[in-house]
Amino acid sequence: MTHDEARARDAADPLRPYRDRFALPEGVIYLDGNSLGPLPRATAPALADMVQRQWGDRLIRSWNEGWIDAPQRIGGKIARLIGAHAAEAIVADSPSVHLFKLLVAALRHDPTRHTVVSETGNFPTDLHIAEGAVGCVPGARLNAVARGDLHDAIDHDTAVTLLTHVHYKTGERYDMAQWTARAHDAGALALWDLSHSVGAIDVDLNAAGADLAVGCGYKYLNGGPGAPAFLFVSRAFQDRLASPLSGWMGHAAPFAFADAYAPADGMKRWLAGTPPMLAMAGLEAGVDLWLGVDRVQVAAKSATLFDLLAAIGAELGLECVSPANPVERGSHISFRHPHAYALCQALIARGVIGDFRDPDILRFGLTPLYLGFEDVWRAGEILGEILASKAYADPEFSKRNAVT
Ligand SMILES: *Cc1c(COP(=O)(O)O)cnc(C)c1O
Repeated sequence: MTHDEARARDAADPLRPYRDRFALPEGVIYLDGNSLGPLPRATAPALADMVQRQWGDRLIRSWNEGWIDAPQRIGGKIARLIGAHAAEAIVADSPSVHLFKLLVAALRHDPTRHTVVSETGNFPTDLHIAEGAVGCVPGARLNAVARGDLHDAIDHDTAVTLLTHVHYKTGERYDMAQWTARAHDAGALALWDLSHSVGAIDVDLNAAGADLAVGCGYKYLNGGPGAPAFLFVSRAFQDRLASPLSGWMGHAAPFAFADAYAPADGMKRWLAGTPPMLAMAGLEAGVDLWLGVDRVQVAAKSATLFDLLAAIGAELGLECVSPANPVERGSHISFRHPHAYALCQALIARGVIGDFRDPDILRFGLTPLYLGFEDVWRAGEILGEILASKAYADPEFSKRNAVT
């Protein structure tokens, strides 16, 4: 694709108007929306309203003017993006905490099964939380195996499979329907982590028959740093699973102030404490932006942006570790390079923000709502210049930051 062709693609792009709904800084090409989504223009006014009017003026009255139902309301909006019913999703806590609740609940659900099956190299928190969760259930264990060994690892002792739909590093995608069926064949539940899928590729939990899922609010949903996360439980399991974090917000009648815990019906039982309303306002502004978006257009544009950057990478001699087939990948592309960290820093110094994943992965998020073809073309040009000039060899670019 030439520069002119990239511009022409942008001019014809039906998603182009969404770009103006983000406050993107000048001089930056943002290829990291899969890690922290950028700021929607609607967010600052929504937060100002939350602080000044809802908190400042309305004070505690706001709990009855829309706050207390925010977890279900925002969950219902996210449900539309993941192929779920409104009453199958709720927002609270973080993906890590949701994983803990669901894993313990799944292990307790069938005491004859003791194993959580997951993948080595899964996103770290998924494995760490699974380790913690099995430690809380007598007899339970975690069996993390390589992707190629998963099929055989799922057996009569498996309580739940814990798989991340789109791999955070390589972008590899599981066939959700196929792997859910594999779990069900063995009598296990299927728990999906959608952190790198929601808002990026088409997700249809109910069509796939999925039982449980969690996902992230601050990546493709643009809900703000550390935004609350969503949790999905299919209707079939809603009254058969209980949260181990039996807090009062998940109680059937929190304001009856009873001593004994009794879980609420439906998704509310997955709440533990009081919803963080400042953060919820940011998340809702990000999620609202998605409601009118045509997800077929998003998937198509993601695939084309990927192909453009894959072609540029190939021309530059970079090794792409992400699958070539669009249905086998998510919406980011990763290249392997021995100087990936320094390359990433050199790119950031030139205004192209991607990220580095240990030990040698240079990762670029391709977010169709606000990224144009010309942006990707231009990022490729800058990447080519940095590779050719070896500008990344400057020792300045090898200093490791705490967050990569
Ligand atoms: C980003 C991400 C998370 C984030 O979890 P936090 O609790 O927000 O730190 C979890 N799982 C996966 C697969 C992710 O990509």
